[in-house]
Amino acid sequence: MPAKAILISIGDEILYGQTLDTNSHWISGELDSLGIRVMKKITIGDTREEILHYLEESENLADMVLITGGLGPTNDDLTKPCLVEYFDTHLVRDQEMLQNIQKLFEKVGREMSDLNEQQADMPANCTPIPNTLGTAPGMWFERNGKVIVSMPGVPYEMKRMMQEAILPKIKEMFTGDNIYHRMIRTIGIPESVLAQKIKDWEDSLPKHIKLAYLPTMGSVKLRLTTSGENEATKKEVQEQIDKVLPQIEKYVYGFDDEEIEEAIGRMLKDKGLKLAVAESCTGGFLSHKITSVPGSSAWFHGGFVPYSNELKNEQLKVDKKIILEQGAVSEPVVLALAENVRKEFNADVAVSISGVAGPSGGSEEKPVGTVWIGYSDKDKTVAKKFQFTKDRGINIQYSAIAALNMIRINLDKN
Ligand code: AMP
Ligand code: MG
Repeated sequence: MPAKAILISIGDEILYGQTLDTNSHWISGELDSLGIRVMKKITIGDTREEILHYLEESENLADMVLITGGLGPTNDDLTKPCLVEYFDTHLVRDQEMLQNIQKLFEKVGREMSDLNEQQADMPANCTPIPNTLGTAPGMWFERNGKVIVSMPGVPYEMKRMMQEAILPKIKEMFTGDNIYHRMIRTIGIPESVLAQKIKDWEDSLPKHIKLAYLPTMGSVKLRLTTSGENEATKKEVQEQIDKVLPQIEKYVYGFDDEEIEEAIGRMLKDKGLKLAVAESCTGGFLSHKITSVPGSSAWFHGGFVPYSNELKNEQLKVDKKIILEQGAVSEPVVLALAENVRKEFNADVAVSISGVAGPSGGSEEKPVGTVWIGYSDKDKTVAKKFQFTKDRGINIQYSAIAALNMIRINLDKN
């Protein structure tokens, strides 16, 4: 049996909708890679009764309880006093933790207050865990073979603490299920159509290999999961991937952790091509995605945001008459943008985006979510129309991903 975990996120701000609980999301992934089953996640406010209640419930149900949040020096953070009450113990000043906090204050040249010193007060029955990036130490409690860990809420402090101290201790103490995941990443095909296409293969999968469809923003990830990571299971899963690939090859952009922007980078680099973009309604989001990949200077030449009609005309030589007659969101405009940005910027490959992001600006002919995307290389210039959603933010993201996919499809053909 794999060890079971419950995660508790504590903080009023999460319940108010002011802070997104990214901590439990990240911790889940880390535990999953150790094969530990996260059976439940709980989010509660900074409230004594709730903290005590869910601590008890979680300790009864799981082998380990990982808590984040509520460790600040101020009175609104209650996790530490609640843990003291829960374990019926008292606080003891820990000299090592105190020195850590003092060093941190010296580094930034600030005076320490009593409140900060009190952060070195640790429940007597815990093993304090140093916080190398902040003032709130973590706490590791053990009782009857079970573990309760309390960590700060600040995501980068928590992550560092998990990586340096908590995960190694968990690995030592618990055995996981040794779960093995592989991911096939597809784009440009709806989940239901994909499911139809691979139905026979899915039906023929061995019972111990589980398949999941994970759709996000125009792409669907197919996850194959089996327990027991060893050479034999790896080979078996690979054989299943090889079996399904020919049926869906034109939609597959990568495997496992590779994002579409990384796949595009890999393809451009392999072919020794440089990319330029002219993006109107995405306002730089496409360039941002491309440049978030390390090493992107090897394939990204640059981007231009011709948001106004003047810039489309003056900088990228789109005919004024065409813009007037057909509108900025039109096939001839993105064709001209793609071809001209490629030539003007001396790139090998270019894409262009022009669309109605919304919420205003739509018409009967071109409702909100209408987006034209152009592609140009030395052999051809083509364009495609998309109809996305009514939501501005989603339209911007969809457009950037569709543009990346357009590069992928056309590079594949070369
Ligand atoms: P605390 O340990 O409660 O003082 O948390 C400090 C800060 O960390 C909060 O103000 C939040 O901005 C952030 N934080 C707390 N819990 C989480 C969480 N579960 N996910 C992401 N950020 C969090
Ligand atoms: Mg808090």
